[in-house]
Amino acid sequence: MSSTQPLLEVKNLQKHFPVSRGFWGKKAGTVRAVDSVSLSINSGKTLGLVGESGCGKTTAGRTLLRLIEPTGGEVLYRGTNILKASPAELRNYRRKLQIVFQDPYSSLNPRITVGGMLKEILQFHKIVPVKQISDRINELLGIVGLAPEYAHRYPHEFSGGQRQRIGIVRALAVEPEFLVLDEPVSALDVSIQAQILNLLKDLQKRLSLSYLFISHALSVVDHIADETAVMYLGRVVESGETSRVVSEPLHPYTKALIAAVPRPDPSMRQIREPLAGDVPNSMNPPSGCHFHPRCPQARPECSTWIYNLKEMPDGRKVACNLY
Ligand code: SF4
Repeated sequence: MSSTQPLLEVKNLQKHFPVSRGFWGKKAGTVRAVDSVSLSINSGKTLGLVGESGCGKTTAGRTLLRLIEPTGGEVLYRGTNILKASPAELRNYRRKLQIVFQDPYSSLNPRITVGGMLKEILQFHKIVPVKQISDRINELLGIVGLAPEYAHRYPHEFSGGQRQRIGIVRALAVEPEFLVLDEPVSALDVSIQAQILNLLKDLQKRLSLSYLFISHALSVVDHIADETAVMYLGRVVESGETSRVVSEPLHPYTKALIAAVPRPDPSMRQIREPLAGDVPNSMNPPSGCHFHPRCPQARPECSTWIYNLKEMPDGRKVACNLY
């Protein structure tokens, strides 16, 4: 891989869901959950993917891992399109590309101990010789800050933060290079959120991991992501270096997301108008710029504007008629 080639490159990824109605299942429309999304993640880096719920960010994360089959586009892992991989090749890629879910409890088998779960994974993928499995389980638990005796416990015996550590260690057991972190801290208390974010940062350094960090909260992404892409109704509307996106947002939607972040300093409040209204129905999105019915800077021509993610002189990209 050349030094400039991203570890993972997503080009025009699409996921459309047909919607049917009535007894005969007549096609009533299409939800364009992911509509030509392009992203790029470099080795050892974190890309944040942010937006309100229903914007398509979770579908994008699952589609790029082929947990959901995409409608179109390309996902290049080290230059190879994994959307064209055979089932055998896909099994190999799945080892390298893993996911951590928001609610690890729902994806853990309640009848199997954590040690049993890790043993199954290590055996199935032949990660270490059978004799070394027990030591490897202890080592893995240590990596995420859990004592070896936790291997004998069942998922219900853990707190929310500990369960998320188990979700992370389950993904790490197969020695991946890239993790999709799908809202990994949003179900946790604020103090626990900080611990998990710090753990993820530490693991990234120690294990040279790359992350796609999906969150509805820009404030959380600001803590962990090198670059950030902001999604609205299936499309990326702004992307670039996180510090720039957060401190000098270009797109009116990004500005509104930032205005919604609580500020401890009262003098900083209400600098920008927070977002009004809900995300429109993605089966019938507004014409032109999908954001125009909610945009405080909308102009008449925005309702017929054709989506175009334009590169700015500082390298950021923005999809807005104002630029
Ligand atoms: Fe607002 Fe128009 Fe820009 Fe859309 S294109 S974000 S409506 S100014």
